[in-house]
This record gives sequence, structure tokens and C-alpha cells, in this order.
Amino acid sequence: MYKRLFFSLFMLILFISGCATIPTGENIATYSIGGVTYYPLVTLCDLRGVGIQYDALLRTAYLSRDAQQVSLRVGDNLVLVNNNALHLNSPIDVYQGTIAVPRQFKEQVFDALFKRAVLAGRRAGTGKIKLNKVVIDAGHGGNDPGAIGKNGLKEKDVNLDIAKRLSSLLRAEGVQTVLTRSTDKFIPLSTRVNIANKSGAALFISIHSNANRSRSLSGFEVYYVASSVSDSKRAVLTARSTALNLKDANFASNSQDLKTIVWDMIYTNSRAESIELSHSLCKVMNSSIDANILGVKNARFQVLKGITMPGILIEVGFVSNLNEERLLKTAGYREKLAVGILEGIRDYSQDMALVEVALR
Ligand SMILES: [Zn+2]
Repeated sequence: MYKRLFFSLFMLILFISGCATIPTGENIATYSIGGVTYYPLVTLCDLRGVGIQYDALLRTAYLSRDAQQVSLRVGDNLVLVNNNALHLNSPIDVYQGTIAVPRQFKEQVFDALFKRAVLAGRRAGTGKIKLNKVVIDAGHGGNDPGAIGKNGLKEKDVNLDIAKRLSSLLRAEGVQTVLTRSTDKFIPLSTRVNIANKSGAALFISIHSNANRSRSLSGFEVYYVASSVSDSKRAVLTARSTALNLKDANFASNSQDLKTIVWDMIYTNSRAESIELSHSLCKVMNSSIDANILGVKNARFQVLKGITMPGILIEVGFVSNLNEERLLKTAGYREKLAVGILEGIRDYSQDMALVEVALR
């Protein structure tokens, strides 16, 4: 469990500074540290489809793609390239919480070993979804229609239809699903949160459609729970009011403070995984639908708060945009969205499974 937490904290640090939108070219933001140009390692890896694993205790990152392997340790000038030591003029560093590599490393090691072009991403539609259960939350319902399009399309109907499609797709792959609603009925947010937390599911996915006064705005976006000062306050409150289910944890004492800390770590853990899932989804959607991918953002949505598992909220499109309203009305487009979400979940679950094997 602790290894997992370390990893998650690391992931959190990585992804918080990660791409808000999918970079299309290779225009990577660089930093200058002591007059030397540095690149964010995780962004390089993302762009070139290079796998990255991090051992928090050894402060060592392992990169691999195909048969190529590189290990590098924060603070060191020495890196191992396919088991050969290579000396850098500047050390591997950390900048704004993420690993930064000097230009020399990028040009002489990374670019040489991991060439461009494998960008297209990997094996869509292949591999098992390694999750037992997913909660799917169709936003709004009943007397709460959500957003309404100019031609009358109601958000609640779009959300429910995509939720049901996603549910069948997941079930066809052997993943259990729990729908917070399966009919056109009003369900309070607190009930949705309760259903999710009692389900024992590994993921929570809330489906919504967007609206904006500006009718020109269109696109797909994903939200995860924001990190903010209020998180720790909420952790304290939740620790007091929630019976913690921490079979893995060994408590030296049963003090409230300790419970609060552990809950906070679990919360953080979920948040890191939510961010990972958000990125997986955006990547898949970027190649599967024509819509703008507006990217991954911090959520302000009440429904995600209090969820004790990785959770995200997806805005599948804008009913306020005439073109997207027309698309969202069609079964074909809804199915495309559901399939895209499924593939994002697949990628995410495989990444998480790899991490668990690596950390065991
Ligand atoms: Zn909504």
C-alpha cells in the first residue's frame, strides 16, 4: 500500500504540471536551471510513447520502449543507457515538482534512442480491462434537465444514453457496472456519492454535457477533483464522519489525526489516478473524435467531492453549440463517445496494472 502511495504522490506531482491539453507538435516548455536548458521528462515520454516508472525510494526513473532502457537518478550526472554508463555535464534535476533532464540528455540519449513517430498511441481496443467494477453516473434527470440546446436537446437524455452505452460496452468485456440512475429520474448528488462509495467500484465516471453562452464553444473535456486548501479540511471532516475501510493499513494508534492523514493520502491517491485517467481519455478522444479536445481541468463539481475512489467528470460536448447539439442527437456519435471512454478506461487500467506489477 505504501509503495502505491509513493507512486501516486509522484504521479500527482507529475500530472499536476502535465499537459492541460494534448500537445500536437513537440513544442515543449523548457526551463533554465543554472543557465542550462532542461526538459520535463514526463512530457518527453508522453510525446514519444516511452514508458516511465519511478522508484520513489531510490529516486530513480526507468524509461523503456521496445528493447531500449534508460535509468536515471535525480541529482546524478550519471545515467545508464542500456546498461552503459554515460556522464552528463549537468545532473538530472527536479523543477516544479517534476523530473527535469538537461538538453544534453534529451539530444544525446532520448532523441537518439526514442525516435519520433510512434505517436499514434498504442493498441486501441486490445487487452483486457483490468478493473472489477465501474460506477457510471448520468448527470441530472427527472425534473432537472441540465443544459438544453437551441433545438431542444436535453442534457439529461444525452448523459443517460451515453451512460447506458458505456455500461453495455463494459459489461461485454466482463466489467461490472453500477449506474446511479438508469431511468429519467432525479437523484440528489449526495445519493449519487453514496451509491458510488458503497459500490466497491474501482472508478467513478460522471457523464455530462456542456453549455455556454457563447454558442461557438465546442469540444470534449474531462475534470478531476481539484487540489486545494479545502482538501485537508474536508479530509478531517470526512475522517470524523466516515467509517474508514483500511484493511491494508496498520495503525500503531487509533488516533483521529492518524486516520485523517491516512484518509488524506487515500484521497490524494485517488486524485493522482483520476488525473491519469483524464489524460488517457483525452489521448484516446483526440484520435477518435473530430471534436476539439479541451483537455483536463480541475473540477469544481460537487458530485466528485466525497467520492472515495478515482473519479472524473466528462463533458462530452456542448448542447449550446448547434453543430455539437446535432451530433449529440445521433446514436452514432453517442456510441463513438462511449467507445472512446471505454478505450480510455482500458488504457488507464492497463497502465495501473503495469504500475502495480512494477511496484510489487
Ligand atoms: Zn451537467
